[in-house]
Amino acid sequence: MELTTTLNRISNGVYSIDQGMVRCFLILGTERALLLDTGAGECDLPGLIRTVTDLPLIVVQTHGDGDHTANSGSFPDIYAHPAEFPVITRFRPELVSRLHPVTEGTSFDLGGRILSVIEAPGHTPGSICLLDRENRILFSGDTVSYGPVFLFGSHRDIHTYRETLNKLMDLGGFDTIYPCHNTCPVSLTTIPALMAAVDGALDGSIEGVPGEMPMPDGAAPLVYSSGKCGILYTKN
Ligand SMILES: [Zn+2]
Repeated sequence: MELTTTLNRISNGVYSIDQGMVRCFLILGTERALLLDTGAGECDLPGLIRTVTDLPLIVVQTHGDGDHTANSGSFPDIYAHPAEFPVITRFRPELVSRLHPVTEGTSFDLGGRILSVIEAPGHTPGSICLLDRENRILFSGDTVSYGPVFLFGSHRDIHTYRETLNKLMDLGGFDTIYPCHNTCPVSLTTIPALMAAVDGALDGSIEGVPGEMPMPDGAAPLVYSSGKCGILYTKN
């Protein structure tokens, strides 16, 4: 897919790399840099990163969906939750030997900045967030954002997702959320709005409406909205 790629500084030591509807993040410490996700479309991501930093680079995937992994083949080592390994390698078996597991509590010390892995299953089984306690930022992947969070299809689970939202509310340690889709940053209130969307979809108090985005494989999930948030979900 041909996508325009832009690099934007969004806060101290944090850059977003934007491609259409999706962004990844470049996060700088004093000794290392961390790339969170590898893009929606192919581009010279290593070259773009070198325009900002020459620090040694750690590459982490929030999850394995194709709009977050397009350039994973450009890097020698990739960290991800093991539950995402089959998705990341489905069309790129050569990546198997480059994948390294992260789980709850794995942390990356960038020098002056520590990012800790928070397991956040639901959108996908091995979705993760990264928590920067010092700067009170949660890098939320696709787990928390405006616009519909995809919760339909075989590898997504709305009940697990709801538990993850509870976990993130209880977690604390952050008051700004940097999502991979739509507005960035968003506030903590995004989490209860998503909880309301999930609960409304499950108990029938929110009516689903057809979404505007074309869906793969003839899927026709409905959008269940709460304020600026929502989920895309198919009731059985
Ligand atoms: Zn996504």
